[in-house]
Amino acid sequence: MRLSQMLFVTLREDPAEAEIPSHKLLLRAGYIRRIGSGIYAYLPLMWRVLQKVSQIVREEMNATLAQECLLPQLQPSELWRESGRWDTYTQAEGIMFALKDRQERELGLGPTHEEVITTIAKEMIRSYRQLPLHLYQIQTKFRDEIRPRFGLMRGREFIMKDGYSFHADEESLKKTYQDMHQAYSNMLRRSGLSFRAVQADSGAIGGSGSQEFMVLAEAGEDEVLYTEDGQYAANVEKAVSLPADAETSIFTSYEKRETPGTDTIEKLCQFLKCSPTQVVKNVLYQAVYDNGMTVLVLVIIRADQEVNEVKLQNELTKLAAKYGGKTLLLLTVPDAEAQQKWASKCLPLGYIAPDVGDDYIASNKQVNAKFLRLIDRTAVDLKNFVTGSNESGYHVVGANWGDQFKLPEIVVDVRKARPGDRAMHNPDQTLQSARGIEVGHIFQLGTKYSKALGATYTNEQGEEVPLVMGCYGVGVSRLAQSAVEQSYDKDGIIWPVAIAPYHVIISVPNVSDAEQLQAAEKLYEQLNKAGIETLLDDRNERAGVKFKDADLIGIPYRIVTGKSLKSGKVEVVERANHKAHEIALDEVVATLKQWIDAAVS
Ligand code: ATP
Ligand code: MG
Repeated sequence: MRLSQMLFVTLREDPAEAEIPSHKLLLRAGYIRRIGSGIYAYLPLMWRVLQKVSQIVREEMNATLAQECLLPQLQPSELWRESGRWDTYTQAEGIMFALKDRQERELGLGPTHEEVITTIAKEMIRSYRQLPLHLYQIQTKFRDEIRPRFGLMRGREFIMKDGYSFHADEESLKKTYQDMHQAYSNMLRRSGLSFRAVQADSGAIGGSGSQEFMVLAEAGEDEVLYTEDGQYAANVEKAVSLPADAETSIFTSYEKRETPGTDTIEKLCQFLKCSPTQVVKNVLYQAVYDNGMTVLVLVIIRADQEVNEVKLQNELTKLAAKYGGKTLLLLTVPDAEAQQKWASKCLPLGYIAPDVGDDYIASNKQVNAKFLRLIDRTAVDLKNFVTGSNESGYHVVGANWGDQFKLPEIVVDVRKARPGDRAMHNPDQTLQSARGIEVGHIFQLGTKYSKALGATYTNEQGEEVPLVMGCYGVGVSRLAQSAVEQSYDKDGIIWPVAIAPYHVIISVPNVSDAEQLQAAEKLYEQLNKAGIETLLDDRNERAGVKFKDADLIGIPYRIVTGKSLKSGKVEVVERANHKAHEIALDEVVATLKQWIDAAVS
């Protein structure tokens, strides 16, 4: 391609709309244009990158049992009602764009495809002889993200590879899951990314396992906790660890104390001169289930710990049936306005005790009459602890479970693991923290969707049983931008060779110099013929401008048909390290071919 004929517009200044380096660079270098919030046009250079990433993904998928297909993006609401996700996706999380057609039928724009694929499996898979089966697609997904940001990293329209596998049993699922682990590792390695596979939250579905593939970068929205010995890595949402030991309480007898102005743990501990590990804090949450039922939740936890809301959500989802619901719609810390809707009197916020009275709740059909009291393991073994008294300005000290307070029945693990915590597998290892961009997620789904949608098959014994499923996603457009986030310098993007839009750019310093132009044209033809994807910068611009642009757009190798032509040579500059080589004209193609092959192998 000739730059003189391309829509090639680069910006000198950082665009105001972009915060992170990869977003700024993709805009400045003319790869993407913002059309609306979370909506981007992929311009020709970007599209080439995306197709290269897609091709790597496709090759790695095809090397397994998986087959490519293309599923509809318009999805009838009935499918989502059957799986029980319509309300969650359109209302609670609101992530799905929903619309009505001219006949008032409801449709969603596909954020993911479990419902569609399971419907197909239900209709087409009859016998164990058809299993295992794995279908995947590469397609634009739609999600009405609350905070679209960072360009392609979190778009409302983005490209994903999603695959779904069907199995006769868990063992077969595990085999495919392993294959996917390998395929994903290959995809990321081939795309030139430095990454880590980490244990991930499987949500309330449980399932026997899920891993995320994290590209390590400061701009990552996810926190990964890992140990140096390489034995443990998990998303903080899922991570477990050993909490620090609690200090022995300085209080020996039960007493109510006046503790004015101590509505935070820090102020309280300062006032009482005690450690937060001797304090039990009571955190109030408000849960709303899909049947509209509001439940007030009191999480009782050691005060030096924090609540991991993902773990809490999973616990609350497990309890949905108890409140007549199927799923949890919302989990919030109720603010003053929210409290007005159910509080019968003013709550002693900051001073709540584990036994705060249910009479604070003005119950009705939509509000459960009792607090759901969940105690985190860290609070169970405390002795002579400090906690609230249900009266503003007062706490109790020297309290014990079984004496002053009844130990809540439901014991949970909802504490947040933190960097510096001791690891479960080996307490000598402490958790370290890194930022990661989630580019892929592999997931053992089990029978959640097949049961909900009635997708069964007949097993070898002649029984009709639900299909066992797995699902596997890669954010193709996010992956492409992550590569930039991991690889750039002050001059611009440094594409890994395997996913660069072009391998080579020939910069003609002076297009009115016939010798320069002629040499460039010849190389351009030879290189493209040899399968080396080459851009020709034949614009009537100053050499300096061309070199700057070449660096900005990040093409791995730049050929300059300049002074060295006199001695039958051209200069070839490596983008990654600015190393310049003088190479004889008739050796350019072979040399570059060798370099490129070595870089992508
Ligand atoms: P996140 O936690 O980042 O929102 P997710 O858990 O919703 O991701 P999945 O539903 O597992 O993501 O989707 C599979 C992959 O699609 C993700 O690993 C990610 O790479 C990509 N992806 C998800 N949401 C977006 C988005 N809004 N923009 C770009 N890529 C996305
Ligand atoms: Mg998401």
